[in-house]
Amino acid sequence: MEKEKILIVDDSEMNRSILADMLADYEIIEAEDGVEAVEILSRRLPELSLMLLDIVMPRLDGFGVLEKMKERDWIEKLPVIIISAENGSNHVERAYELGATDFIARPFDSLIVQRRVVNTLLLYAKQKRLIRIAEEQVREKERYNDLMIDILSQLVEFRNGESGLHIKHVRRLTQLFLTRLEARTDAYPLTEGEISLICTASALHDIGKIAIDDKILNKPGRLTPEEYEIMKTHSALGADMLRKIVEHQNEPLIQKAAEICRWHHERWDGGGYPDGLRGDAIPISAQVVALADVYDALTSKRVYKPAYSHEQAVRMILGGECGAFNPLLLECISENDPQLQNARWDESIDQPGKTRSRAILEELHDESGASRRTLSLLEKERMKNSVLASMAETVQFEYTPDPPMITMSPWGAQKLGLPEIIMDPKNSDELFRVLDREYWEEMSRFMRASTPEDSEKRIDCPLHYGGETRWARILLRTIWTDDEDPVLESVMGTVLDIHDSRVRIEELARRSTQDSLTGLLNRASARERIERRMAEKPEDHFALCEIDIDDFKKLNDTFGHMFGDQVLRELSRRMKHSVRSSDICCRAGGEEFFLFLDYNDQIESTVDRIYKSLCFEIEGLNITVSMGVALSVTEGPDYTRLYRAADLALYKVKKSGKKHYRFYEQAMSDALEDVAGEEGR
Ligand code: GH3
Ligand code: MG
Ligand code: MG
Repeated sequence: MEKEKILIVDDSEMNRSILADMLADYEIIEAEDGVEAVEILSRRLPELSLMLLDIVMPRLDGFGVLEKMKERDWIEKLPVIIISAENGSNHVERAYELGATDFIARPFDSLIVQRRVVNTLLLYAKQKRLIRIAEEQVREKERYNDLMIDILSQLVEFRNGESGLHIKHVRRLTQLFLTRLEARTDAYPLTEGEISLICTASALHDIGKIAIDDKILNKPGRLTPEEYEIMKTHSALGADMLRKIVEHQNEPLIQKAAEICRWHHERWDGGGYPDGLRGDAIPISAQVVALADVYDALTSKRVYKPAYSHEQAVRMILGGECGAFNPLLLECISENDPQLQNARWDESIDQPGKTRSRAILEELHDESGASRRTLSLLEKERMKNSVLASMAETVQFEYTPDPPMITMSPWGAQKLGLPEIIMDPKNSDELFRVLDREYWEEMSRFMRASTPEDSEKRIDCPLHYGGETRWARILLRTIWTDDEDPVLESVMGTVLDIHDSRVRIEELARRSTQDSLTGLLNRASARERIERRMAEKPEDHFALCEIDIDDFKKLNDTFGHMFGDQVLRELSRRMKHSVRSSDICCRAGGEEFFLFLDYNDQIESTVDRIYKSLCFEIEGLNITVSMGVALSVTEGPDYTRLYRAADLALYKVKKSGKKHYRFYEQAMSDALEDVAGEEGR
């Protein structure tokens, strides 16, 4: 047995999908707003068994749909259950007033939805069966009516020397134009019954030609002006004939046909006949039939003219060469219009082609598809929420590229002092007061490079808000459509405050590179920097000084460790003062120090000045140092060689009475080898 069809109208795909899953026993048709719903209703009302209708929707809301349904008598034919979170009593009341059958509040409960749907369907099934029987009887009658009209109108045509096709075409075109007009405008509200009546009546539009003399009607050549005047009387004659059928005076069909007969040669600009009516003084039935008549006449071969192509006919009509028409009506025809093109041949014009969105919806709608889609939507929703989610008091946001817009979580917006919605963030001054532009650019680069497989990114950056600058970690995740060719839908972001931990880590890092007593670099970090400096500019001139306090052990032993520390600190202070800040000062251990500097010339005087500043008086005591110096010009930009040379020079200074400095010379190495040789012996 064929499944009953339920139309679900809701702008939230998620809601539609959930409902579709709950109603798996039915065939589901979906519309994403009121406009689409009305469009589907206008084509498929007889197939439908029930409509589930959301209230708050873009374009046309649920009330709008109900109003349209009432206007067009659809509300009697289709039960409507309102589904809405809006359960305020005046909402409900208004919906019932407009003809809704029932009301289900969100969030949906599967059992309630199923129960209400079944109840409503049962109730209406009974009613529908009765209506169907009645309708069948009516239809039977109508068929005979149509038959009689066909016979009659074809008699006219045969007498006219035409094939009988013209009547059929005009009827189909009338139907097509009226359907389009209804979809396009509310200016001519017509029920389905009225449309059908006009279509039937259109067959009689030329019936007045029965009264026109054969000789004029079938004259092979051009009509004289007098003959043309006689020919023109056919419209008024037809109307008079129909109005004289006294017994059926009040029949709507007769009245409609009379109106079409009389006025189907009127023009929108008032230049037609017989009455010279202007604009909407001409009944819409006659306006539409006139257009259908002209279009078919143009595209058919006549004794006096060839058959014009569809495009040509449309061009001529739109160009005003064949009469003057209602502009709204002209909007219903266009050159690129396969439906119209086929209307003269295609039997099924009242089944317009599928819209793209409907095709997609239907495709999505195979049974298993519905729940797969729900799952994937849920997954997407879950992902969105978990990426950001309720790590309470985190700043969250979503960025959509089309239109470019950031939506901030309310808490986050308040925290950062930003609005909840930032349109066109790229040009938002507000945003860039908080975020440095370079990090926005980094995010943009990520969005461009991101793929569904590579969809996550972490950016650490400072944010300026609440009068201070704090470090933040921004976690980004790109969200993609499910299509075969996934499209970037949005980027979800969470902002974590990492300021305190970052400051702690920085402090630790700083400490690991620094000597705690003097604040100078330690040996390892100094070596790293010295090597980096020389690698960057190997051609520059560098000097490495190794400094050692003379007789420090004795000082410590005599005046105590604390005084020793004071001396170490004072020496460090003097070292930093004696060189530029870009030079490297290091406590290599104990009372041994390094100084690394670059120079242009006159290194001797520089070294001499530095040395003198490192010998000083403290609390009446003279502190002296020994210093060995090595230069990259002789040793090359190589740390190990420089260190070895400086150390050797220092060794020579210590050996020769301390309290002075020396530059390394090759001879020192040779002498060392001699000593080693001697010791080895
Ligand atoms: P020389 O003139 O030959 O360099 O003799 P010296 O006594 O200066 O050198 P030595 O290496 O024999 O002694 C270094 C002393 O430095 C030994 C150690 O107790 C002391 N020392 C090392 N680190 C510290 C420190 O952080 N504070 C203090 N007060 N003393 C330290
Ligand atoms: Mg010493
Ligand atoms: Mg020492």
